[in-house]
This record gives sequence, C-alpha cells and structure tokens, in this order.
Amino acid sequence: MITFRWAGASDTGQVRRANQDRWHATNGLFVVADGMGGHQGGEVASAVAIETMREQVLDADGTATTERLLDGVQAANRAVIARSHTSLDLRGMGTTLCAVAAIEGPDTDEQWLAVANVGDSRVYLWADDELRQVTRDHSLVEDMVRDGRITEEEAAVHPQRNILTRALGVTGEIDVDYWELPAREGDRLLLCSDGLFNEVSVDQIASVLRRLDDPGEVAEELVRLANAGGGRDNITVVVADVEAGPTTDDQRTIGALQVRPGRTDRAGFTSARDGDTAEHAVIDRAGIPARLLAPAIDDDDIDPGRSRTPIRTLGWLLSIVLVITVVVVAVGLYSRSSYFVGVNDDSVVVFQGRPGGVLWFDPTVELVTDLDVADLTPLLLEEVEGNPDYASVEGALDYVDGLTDRLAEASTESEPDE
Ligand code: MG
Repeated sequence: MITFRWAGASDTGQVRRANQDRWHATNGLFVVADGMGGHQGGEVASAVAIETMREQVLDADGTATTERLLDGVQAANRAVIARSHTSLDLRGMGTTLCAVAAIEGPDTDEQWLAVANVGDSRVYLWADDELRQVTRDHSLVEDMVRDGRITEEEAAVHPQRNILTRALGVTGEIDVDYWELPAREGDRLLLCSDGLFNEVSVDQIASVLRRLDDPGEVAEELVRLANAGGGRDNITVVVADVEAGPTTDDQRTIGALQVRPGRTDRAGFTSARDGDTAEHAVIDRAGIPARLLAPAIDDDDIDPGRSRTPIRTLGWLLSIVLVITVVVVAVGLYSRSSYFVGVNDDSVVVFQGRPGGVLWFDPTVELVTDLDVADLTPLLLEEVEGNPDYASVEGALDYVDGLTDRLAEASTESEPDE
C-alpha cells in the first residue's frame, strides 16, 4: 500500500466571478475537474463528477484498480448528464476530469499508478528531476499540434485553445484515456486545471516542484504564480508525493513513460492507444457546448443548426421580403405625398415629391406656371429656390399666385424711383 503526502489548492483567479474547478484527494485517489456551463452549470458539473469519483473508485479497503477508476469516470459522466436534465439552467454543462489512483501492479507486490483523463486538465509526473506530462489534452489545439499544423508554442496562445474535443456531460459513454505506471518513492504527481498551465510555463512549474518540498507550499506557490501571470481562469493544483511503499525495480523508463497506455471505448472495452482521432464533442469551455459532432443520447438535445427545416427557412425569407416591400411602399407614399415650388428650365414650377428626393424617389414636375425666373426679384428667386412645400397642388398654386401679386406690388412701388 502506497502512502502519499498531498495537498491541493484552488482559486477563482483574477477575472472569473465563480470557481468552477473542483478537486479531491484521499490516500490513493486524486482528482481535478474543471467545469463549464452558464449559470451554476460548471460548478455543479465538476462537483457531481468529483463526488461520483469519490464514492465509486476506491473499494472498502481504500484501494483501486484501473477498471474501478475507468468505471468511476463513466459513472461520473452519466451523473453529470443526469443532473443536467434536472434543470434548464444546467443544460449543456460539462466538465473535464483527470485522476490518479493507486493500484496493484501486475505482480501483487508492486504498486502502480493508474491515470485517467477526459478533457484538458492535466496530470504531470515529476521524477528524476524531470517534469513529464502524462495525459494528453482532448482539445482542438492538441489535435492541431499532433497533426503538425501548429507548434506547441502557437497552441499556448491560440485563440481556440479553449475548445475541447472531449468532456464529461456530453454523450452517454465516453472514451477515457488511461495510463498505468509503476510508482516509486519520491515520485511527485501534479494534477491541475488549465488555469495553471495557461499562465505558468512548464519551466516555472518544474522549478517550483524542484525547490519546494512541502506539497501544500507547492500548491500555493503555483496558484500564486498563475494569478501573477494573469489569473484569467480558475486555477486548481493538487500535488501528491509517493512517500512510502514497495519500491519497484528501476524498470520504468521515463522516456517511455506511457508504460501501459490505453483507452476505454464506448462499449467499455479497453484498447491500445493509437492515433486517437475520435472526436465526440466539441465544447467551448467558455460556456455552452458549441457544437455536437456526435448525437447525444438525449433526443431533446437537438442541434439548433439542424432544427431549422427548409420550411422555416422559406418562412423567414418570405417575412424578410414582406418587410422590405412594406418599407418601400411607405417610403414611396411619404416621398410622393407632398408638393413644393421650385425652378425648372427657367420657369417656376410645382413639383410632386420632396426636395432632393427620398431614397430612389425623385421629385417630378407636376405643372409649369406662367412665371419665369427672369420675372422674379432676387429676393423672391431666393425664396422660390428655398422650395416652399405644400400638402396639395392647390396650396402650391396659391403660393405662386401670391408671388405674382407681390411682383406686381414690387413693380408699382419701384416705379416712382425710376
Ligand atoms: Mg479552466
């Protein structure tokens, strides 16, 4: 039986309002879960997953097997889904989960560790003064790195690094990656959510693991560094040191750390891990599941993109056409409902429409009066060019008559001066 010395720390960070990460540690089982989903969804998902693991993985004597660990992850997944159906606010919630359990090795006097992972929380092993990432992220950028499309450095700052390809809470059965490795005294395991490694470099993490002996100090220091680095996400760290236990022969090659990597498929069978391209869900961990690539077992979980039938689309188009027609008619009526006096071809005329036109409705000449521009005084010409407007042709004509009268008066008044 291995004895661990462990500690954990979790912090909301500098930006988020709530901490959706959860962690659990007992001698023999260590878990980190990073929940996602609006309202309280993320917190509930990670808490439900952790609680299920706590109840199911260790047997009565506090020991585990890889099978129990993997069954626990499947049970946690089902529990998250079941819980998400209890409230509309919890729909679409999910969580990552990474876990380490102490197990018996192939020879019963050996102690091994089983590591399981879904999502992008991570398990690292610090041994022989070297930091090794045991788990592989189920994320879009991880796939891109594996395909050689981007580098690790580009992945670390990629705008889509929040997109997960696997998480608990999405489909009824999930593929769980796992690894088994012999435990050795002095091994130090680090479990963490992405809030740590997105803010703190691997070198910085290694230096803290090397420098500080006490797991509690390590956890607190790593959280502090993540906050100092920006703290843009919740930060969770669990540190577990293998203190005592049967020492294993030096059969473990760190260079070939994944001694017995594997993965459970949907039917629960384990299979050798190869080029893992299975993508069951794409989740934007910033909140709601962005897109489901495989049908969820819940029939109500209809992809909004698919529920838009051709008939509904046609309806939308007709509505848009109707709205446009109404607007055009209204603008037309408005623009044609007025008359104004102006100048056209040296004559004073009455226009129908609005001066300058409205949209593509230009004013048209309604009638040409007997008045010529040459008859007008400069003052009256200026007035006419100001385009006085009227609700009817009659109104406009009254104005023109008035103009004629005023011209007659102006000429009689000016005669004595000449
Ligand atoms: Mg996170």
